[in-house]
Amino acid sequence: MHHKERALAPVFQRVLGAEIVVPALDTDTLGTFSGEVPRPDALVETALLKAEMVFDALPDIDCALASEGSYGPIGRLPLVPGGVELLAFVDRKRGIRHVETLSTHRTTWRLQRFAKGDPDRLLALKGMGFPRFGVFVGCNSDMSHPIKNLVTVEDVISAMDREAERSSDGLAVLYSDMRAHKNPLRMQVLRAAGYKLARRLQRLCPKCHAPGWGPIGSRRGLPCEACGAPTHWIDFEIDGCNVCGHAETRPRKDGRRTASRLSCKACR
Ligand SMILES: [Zn+2]
Ligand SMILES: [Zn+2]
Repeated sequence: MHHKERALAPVFQRVLGAEIVVPALDTDTLGTFSGEVPRPDALVETALLKAEMVFDALPDIDCALASEGSYGPIGRLPLVPGGVELLAFVDRKRGIRHVETLSTHRTTWRLQRFAKGDPDRLLALKGMGFPRFGVFVGCNSDMSHPIKNLVTVEDVISAMDREAERSSDGLAVLYSDMRAHKNPLRMQVLRAAGYKLARRLQRLCPKCHAPGWGPIGSRRGLPCEACGAPTHWIDFEIDGCNVCGHAETRPRKDGRRTASRLSCKACR
């Protein structure tokens, strides 16, 4: 619905020689960007559910791709906005369900509140990249019906004043429209996530040859350089296949065999 194929189709064509076909689906029923910020585990479920919906719309297709994103203030640093993009890939023939994630600080996400006639409204709107980047306008005491698809600065300003008047505390909320087609920066992040997923699908499991071989985790306990006791540093990485369950360990990419004594509980 939000033209994400513009970001993903060239990537899948280039890396895998795969063609992306867009089904006619209304995925807004599964949650939209104008509401609450969902939890990451809910995003994974939603993305997989979206991908499965493709098979109902296009019964001849065996591989489906769906995307979910979440942007907002980062939990521990409320003033620093960030986001995460998820791409769910399902190959129903081979039994592959893979979710690739990409975290980013590259976002123009903002949320600010303004009273009617506030002179800072225009500057805030400019700072959010409007009109190249979309915005939503809401009423601070009732965020359930945000105003979308505003085209001109005049439209946004008058919507803000209307919503401020309607709000019990006299404040309108101006925040970023993170739908992909209204956010060029999100399109870029989506493309990067697409590359990450496509490259993963390029790698085949050494045992069953299913696509999607790659990192599934890591094990901590790299020995201390002075006393050899295990530390919280990563000791080795684990690659795995989510079709046959085969897994292999490999040493750290940076080649370190010991951890700094500063990270050791015994030596500190
Ligand atoms: Zn030590
Ligand atoms: Zn395998």
